[in-house]
Amino acid sequence: MIQAPRGTFDILPDSAAQRKVVEEQTEKILGAAGYRRIETPTFESTDLFARGVGEATDIVQKEMYSFDDGGGRSLTLRPEVTAPICRAYLEHGMHKLAQPVKLWYLSSCFRSESPQRGRYRQFWQVGAEAIGSSAPETDAELIVLLADLLEALGVKGTRLRLSSLGTPETRSAYREELKTFLRAHEAELADTVRGRIELNPLRAFDSDDRRTQAVMRDAPLLIDRLNNEDAEHFAQVRALLDDAGIAYELDPTLVRGLDYYTRTVWEFTSDELGAQSGVGGGGRYDGLIELLDGPPTPGVGWAAGIERMLLAASDLAAPAEPVDLFVALARPDGTRTAFELARDARRAGLQAQLELAGRSLKGQLKHADRIHARWVAIVGENGVATLRDMQSHEQRDTKLENVIPTILRGGTP
Ligand code: ATP
Ligand code: MG
Repeated sequence: MIQAPRGTFDILPDSAAQRKVVEEQTEKILGAAGYRRIETPTFESTDLFARGVGEATDIVQKEMYSFDDGGGRSLTLRPEVTAPICRAYLEHGMHKLAQPVKLWYLSSCFRSESPQRGRYRQFWQVGAEAIGSSAPETDAELIVLLADLLEALGVKGTRLRLSSLGTPETRSAYREELKTFLRAHEAELADTVRGRIELNPLRAFDSDDRRTQAVMRDAPLLIDRLNNEDAEHFAQVRALLDDAGIAYELDPTLVRGLDYYTRTVWEFTSDELGAQSGVGGGGRYDGLIELLDGPPTPGVGWAAGIERMLLAASDLAAPAEPVDLFVALARPDGTRTAFELARDARRAGLQAQLELAGRSLKGQLKHADRIHARWVAIVGENGVATLRDMQSHEQRDTKLENVIPTILRGGTP
């Protein structure tokens, strides 16, 4: 038997109904703040991610699904959506629109990772981006919107970690300082950390090796090196979050996956999730558009994993899908009438289903019960149907043309 590839999964109807709730809530919450939906292609030039996510990141180093397009160009299934949106911003001259341009998306993403609970090779993200504003209000508003979404979905045990990475200049000076520190403690570091001192020294803070962790307790912190403007920007973001009553932990070791985050970065985790605790996170990426050959343009955004949100909101109930009418047949020769009645009912706005399996009348009524049909119309002879109320089990004969009006009136003949 052929099965779905490892790390992928089918979205069966019950799950699709839950995901619809996620989509509706996202649209409602972000739409109310003026964010509009965008969709980008499933694959892009590999170069977009190499530049836009960063050569040194896990994503680009080992998680991308890249392939040749047949003409010698390398394409990649999108591992994330921020870089594609920045590409679209430039490609469509969105700098001419009122700034910031506020966008949201719901998209599948692809990363070659070892599959486990909450970690898949194809997964879905909802996200928001505000491009063209460096105001701290933008950062704070985006964090509040993500907090609101998680709350609306009933995501449990959430915690917010927050930090600031400063500007690229501060960061590269700090990187050198950190590298010097790490080199001085080389012998005490885990192999993987030692191997990445040059490429990605910040990842040392993420290490789960105990000796490395002991070393890192004395490491210099970027947050203590911010210049005045960055420190002021961060202080304003924090003040706005405080006013909004959003609790957070300052985590100066917070390292986010994208190379080009600047200033504010944050991540929401959920205690419900175990090892894959990140539900959603984001940050400011003031250098990204320039890296993609655009003019200097600030930007900030977040992405949240739909599967992880659903795992951490275990009792998210999707609204029931009611069946107003099931059209049953008393005799096999009534099919054309039944077919027409079901169609007319749908055109009148009812959810109407038709007997499709050649069951006996008894079987049809059992089936109608199973799908929780509110009414059953049993099509009989000479333009007459028996309309059965599946709640009271009362039934009466009526002319076919009265079936739909009666249901629309809630059963009054
Ligand atoms: P992690 O540290 O768990 O690998 P990440 O930092 O790579 O997460 P981001 O790139 O920030 O994650 O993506 C945003 C969100 O997308 C995550 O918080 C998570 O909810 C979700 N996500 C990321 N990778 C996966 C995956 N492989 N499967 C399912 N969801 C994922
Ligand atoms: Mg990851």
